[in-house]
Amino acid sequence: METKLKQYQSKVIARLIGNFRKLNAIDVSEFTPRSTMLCRKCNGHHLVKNGVFNKRQRYKCKDCNHTQFADANTALFNLKFKDKWVDFVYIMLDNEQPKSCEKISKSLEINIKTAHEWRLKFLTAISDIEPIGDSQELELDEIYLPFCVKGRIGKEKYDEWYGENNPQNVESSLRKEEKIKEEQKHQTIYLCTHNRNADFDFTPIKIQKKGIVAADDLVRVNTNNLSEKTVITDSEPSMKAFLKSYTDVNHQTFKSSDIKQGIMVETGIHNNNINNTMMRLKKWLKNFSGVSTKYQKQYLNWFRFQNLFTGFDFNGLNIRDAVNKTLTDKDAYSKFKSIFLFYGLFINI
Ligand SMILES: [Zn+2]
Repeated sequence: METKLKQYQSKVIARLIGNFRKLNAIDVSEFTPRSTMLCRKCNGHHLVKNGVFNKRQRYKCKDCNHTQFADANTALFNLKFKDKWVDFVYIMLDNEQPKSCEKISKSLEINIKTAHEWRLKFLTAISDIEPIGDSQELELDEIYLPFCVKGRIGKEKYDEWYGENNPQNVESSLRKEEKIKEEQKHQTIYLCTHNRNADFDFTPIKIQKKGIVAADDLVRVNTNNLSEKTVITDSEPSMKAFLKSYTDVNHQTFKSSDIKQGIMVETGIHNNNINNTMMRLKKWLKNFSGVSTKYQKQYLNWFRFQNLFTGFDFNGLNIRDAVNKTLTDKDAYSKFKSIFLFYGLFINI
């Protein structure tokens, strides 16, 4: 016999249906209006309508005559099944548990390789969504993640990334380097910047055996605007040397051993935000069976993006905002195509 739903259950279902209707009403092309377009060839922004091709409005650059569609070089560029992008963003965000490529592929009825590519495009597109919220106080620290190749040696087609002109030996020298770094248990080191409004970001520093990075490396990668800010770090000498170059920074340090003993915790001089975020990150990374260093930064973007959308309750408004953020970067496609190139450079720093 069929069980009758209780009143509150019917209401939940009605709300879900309403939300899905809102989601289905979102037209992905609304997020790439002409006003935000950039010419793929010359980066100019004087684009005018130039006929319809394959039922899609085409645009022409007034500066260089290049023609393109509105979503050129965004995460949607060259994408089949563009109309599934909104559903994809929803699936990427709707749950605490990160979705595997297999699940994405089944839900969207796309193949696994496509799901893998979409995920990378999505994660690349959100890498520069916005600098971490302005905050007078910043915590800085290095974080260490294991260098990982994740069983793809010999499986991936490197020329797909490098293009036809790729000299053959690039591949083998890189693999040799990967093998050494894996055997010697190298770490991928990132600079973690954390404000005190729950936002954070990671900048890749280098791959090396566990140990302190040099002050020069910190100077090289720092993109944070530290001017006139209070910066809190542990009392590691390289952090001190790095921050010495900023004369207008109020640099506060603490000793990790003091924190452990409960000394000074009330003064605000601590990196508790970084430590808490790192605990959550390590737990979150357990959802994956190892993350290849090649894609680590993309996963860190994902973790941050989920954090920014905490409280994402699928109310139609947030999903719009999230979709918009995935299509704001007008250089996302080039960045996606350069993942491998940057990895190759990064591994040799
Ligand atoms: Zn142009």
